[in-house]
Amino acid sequence: VPVSHIRNFSIIAHIDHGKSTLADRLLQFTGTVDARDMKEQFLDNMDLERERGITIKLQAARMTYTGRDGQTYILNLIDTPGHVDFSYEVSRSLAACEGALLVVDASQGVEAQTLANVYLALEHNLEIIPVLNKIDLPGAEPERVKGEIEEIVGLDCSQAVLASAKEGIGIAEILESIVHLVPPPQDTVADPLRALIFDSYYDPYRGVIVYFRVMDGVVHRGDRIRLMASGKEYEIDELGVLAPNQTPVESLHAGEVGYLAAAIKAVGDARVGDTITLATKPAKAALPGYTEAKPMVFCGLFPTDAAQFEDLRDALEKLKLNDASLHYEPETSSAMGFGFRCGFLGLLHMEIIQERLEREYNLDLIITAPSVVYRVTTLKGDVLTIDNPSLLPEPQYRQKIEEPYVQVEMITPETYVGTLMELAQSRRGIFKDMRYLTQGRTTLIYELPLAEIVTDFFDQMKSRSRGYASMEYHLIGYRENDLVKLDLLINNDPVDSLAAIVHRDKAYYVGRALVSKLKDLIPRHQFKIPIQAAIGSRIIASESIPALRKDVLAKCYGGDVSRKRKLLEKQKAGKKRMKAIGSVDVPQEAFMAVLRLK
Ligand code: GDP
Ligand code: MG
Repeated sequence: VPVSHIRNFSIIAHIDHGKSTLADRLLQFTGTVDARDMKEQFLDNMDLERERGITIKLQAARMTYTGRDGQTYILNLIDTPGHVDFSYEVSRSLAACEGALLVVDASQGVEAQTLANVYLALEHNLEIIPVLNKIDLPGAEPERVKGEIEEIVGLDCSQAVLASAKEGIGIAEILESIVHLVPPPQDTVADPLRALIFDSYYDPYRGVIVYFRVMDGVVHRGDRIRLMASGKEYEIDELGVLAPNQTPVESLHAGEVGYLAAAIKAVGDARVGDTITLATKPAKAALPGYTEAKPMVFCGLFPTDAAQFEDLRDALEKLKLNDASLHYEPETSSAMGFGFRCGFLGLLHMEIIQERLEREYNLDLIITAPSVVYRVTTLKGDVLTIDNPSLLPEPQYRQKIEEPYVQVEMITPETYVGTLMELAQSRRGIFKDMRYLTQGRTTLIYELPLAEIVTDFFDQMKSRSRGYASMEYHLIGYRENDLVKLDLLINNDPVDSLAAIVHRDKAYYVGRALVSKLKDLIPRHQFKIPIQAAIGSRIIASESIPALRKDVLAKCYGGDVSRKRKLLEKQKAGKKRMKAIGSVDVPQEAFMAVLRLK
């Protein structure tokens, strides 16, 4: 295929605006997947993704399309994950494209995620084609939404396509726009090979399968390649295109998108953003933009049953083969025993891994509250990174503590501006900007400590706005704050896994709220259990759980068997997620209590 007949594009959209449905429709229209094979949403093929309605992992598909000009084109669709946690992967996918379809639900309008993705696409100088989707809905207002896109994003909408991915309206126009508006790749076939890795996954039989876009030169099956960031070399066993199933070819040249297998053992050896070149004739410089995605959120994972420790290690090892950004190392907690401290790109990434460990590996876990990474300067001037609150050095050994800050952008109907400002302010937010968009919609910009976002901020924003507000955030750097370690004592023993780092101004409030919450969450025992919060050696809040007076079964009068059984089952289910700390059984929810304080 001549380079002039290739178009590489991605689809960017806010969640639920119809990205996957549109992708399916494009594959169908071009005959890439026939209707018979068409499963709902070909591109979202992980159960978890489907259940949550989000796209986590990128995929790519190659379509052949004959345009109205009679010419045959190769269209490569590179899908992007739809969540802020994976914005580095999004940026690498966009770097592999020359254009993007911007899908906006015509009954909703521009949302926070739409904007965040558009900014990324603009950074990569992509040609952006606005698509107003869901025009079949009675509430669709394509003209209003066009105005919104022009005003907020500053994109010309005179060529915008009106579409319904569901009804198949506007699909031909979208394909024509891709051919005519998205520029072809540059013809750099004669240059030394440089190919950009935008995704990879681990296959137990073939090793890592790498998805890439050839930026310069040509690559052949059998070539000896070098990964420029890792420095490792491999021989290509298999090379191919995604049509959309893997189809082997002999070579791929500049502008093309494909996959390769080369007996690579773990995805960490072929990271997203790395540059593939030839070992025999390497390129001078790697492609720009490679970084190693750093974990932002950490938590402890402990098996409820200590005997499952090795199983947990095996499971993490397997997940890591497929996920270079998952970090873990063994952790020993005096309260919880042996487990792992794990690092994630963000909260969603954390939830996905936790869910997979429990569902796919049948593990029963106790998960401690997520923590951000603090930067502590010691008196001697050393800088430590602390991702576990219980390891914070005592005040007499430290000069200062810094914590990560993010900039948050919320888009909301005007009615909820007040309550959302109140929310941000209550989370140590610093107001930066407020702008009126169209039709009573407003964007609010705040700077907040990341630690305040990893609690229930998103849920609060959704419930305060009845689901209408959307948000995005990105890291802006570290700032010094007056932070203290809050210790929790159960039955007079400090529980390391319950320790939290909080702002001094909030410490008393959090301490009191946490103690009273734990009092409700921890079941009664045969003895009285004191619960206390402390800063250093100073107790700042204290409660106690009274001893159990009677056998729980006593109130069943001995007669009603089914009720008795129900009660026992209920007790058993409740037990499932308990961790014995000293002689006290503590339920899973207690470890998350700090996230759900009113
Ligand atoms: P994504 O999150 O952007 O991938 O969105 P999906 O493609 O999963 O679509 C979200 C929901 O919107 C699904 O229930 C789709 O069936 C629905 N949907 C997508 N496109 C259209 C459309 O053009 N019209 C209508 N009425 N519904 C649509
Ligand atoms: Mg989707």
